[in-house]
This record gives sequence, structure tokens and C-alpha cells, in this order.
Amino acid sequence: MAASTPKVGVLALQGDFREHLAVLGELGAEAVPVRRPAELAEVQGLVIPGGESTVMDKLSRAFGLREPVQRAISAGLPVYGTCAGLIMLADRVLDAIDGQLTLGGLDVTVRRNAFGSQVDSFETDLPMPVLGDEPVHAVFIRAPIVEEVGAAATPIGTLADGRVVAVEQGNLLGTSFHPEVTGDYRFHDYFLQKVRAA
Ligand code: GLN
Repeated sequence: MAASTPKVGVLALQGDFREHLAVLGELGAEAVPVRRPAELAEVQGLVIPGGESTVMDKLSRAFGLREPVQRAISAGLPVYGTCAGLIMLADRVLDAIDGQLTLGGLDVTVRRNAFGSQVDSFETDLPMPVLGDEPVHAVFIRAPIVEEVGAAATPIGTLADGRVVAVEQGNLLGTSFHPEVTGDYRFHDYFLQKVRAA
């Protein structure tokens, strides 16, 4: 029963958590917002949404969630971060603001707002072999890129110029872009497979 209907949380401090809750619900998970440690303790997986990593960092500390999420990640909780969520999961971040912390877990270096102010947002189709033959329509919004992939992490998606925009490492998954806004739920489905297997 738990295997067929996993309870999956979405960090709901800031950003587009409602979209992720809707997608996970459509895929048959019990999707719940997470704002408190007690809520985190009940979930079998966690999505960290897009939004603003600097704000999410401050709020996660203010809400007493920073250490509990870090412990959960260390204990193997499946976590999927999109955009700002990928930044939160990265062990190292470039162009952070003063004092900005990440939760860490993914052995990568990301650069915030990597596409500059000229190109705030763009969409493109990306090959994504882990999801099958059909490319993924990827929506980038003031997105980070993965500048360096450490030995523990694996790149799973790149732009045509080779820059990495999707990575995984065990139960952790991160994308620079926003699958929750495209109607293509294969990334969430891929994440739910990790949750069910965990
Ligand atoms: N630029 C944002 C940040 O640094 C991320 C943007 C997004 O999540 N769409 O956190």
C-alpha cells in the first residue's frame, strides 16, 4: 500500500511548490506541503521547488528545517530539486549572495543565474536518455547551470553546447529547468521510482 501511494513532500517555504504538489498528486502520490520538521518526518521523498534560493535558504533556517533536511538527505531520503531547488541541493554554489548556504548533498558546483540578464528565460528540447527516446521540453527561468560535476554525481542532461543541466546521485535528482510547468511528468515519475525503491 505504502509502495503504491508514497507520501511525498514539497518544501513549501517559497516558490512554485503548488505546481509540484499538483503534478505529484496526478501521478498518484499523496503530495503534502512541508514547512515544519514534523511534516518532513512523515514523507518518503521531498521535492525542493524553483523560486529563489537565497530566500529559501533564509526561510529554511528560520523554520528550523535546515538541519532536519540535511539529516534526511544524509540518511538517504530521495530528494528532487528544480532550479532554485537544485541550487539548494548543490554542495558548492557560485555567484551566491553573501552568507548564502545550501543544504548540499549533490557533489556538484552550480552557478546561479548562469544565463545572465540578457536571457532570463528560454525553452529548448533536450535529449534525456534516462527518460527514454523522447526529448524533454525544458523551460529555464533565471536558471543555474552545473559548472562542475564531482566524482559522486552523474550528468544526465546537457544543453547542445555541453553544459550540464540535469544530474543525479543515488537518491538525489536535480534539474536546472522546470518540468512541473510543461505537462511532461516523466521527471516526477522518474523521481517517484526512486521514492518507491527507497
Ligand atoms: N535564480 C534563482 C535562484 O538563484 C532560481 C530561479 C528559479 O528557481 N526559477 O535561486
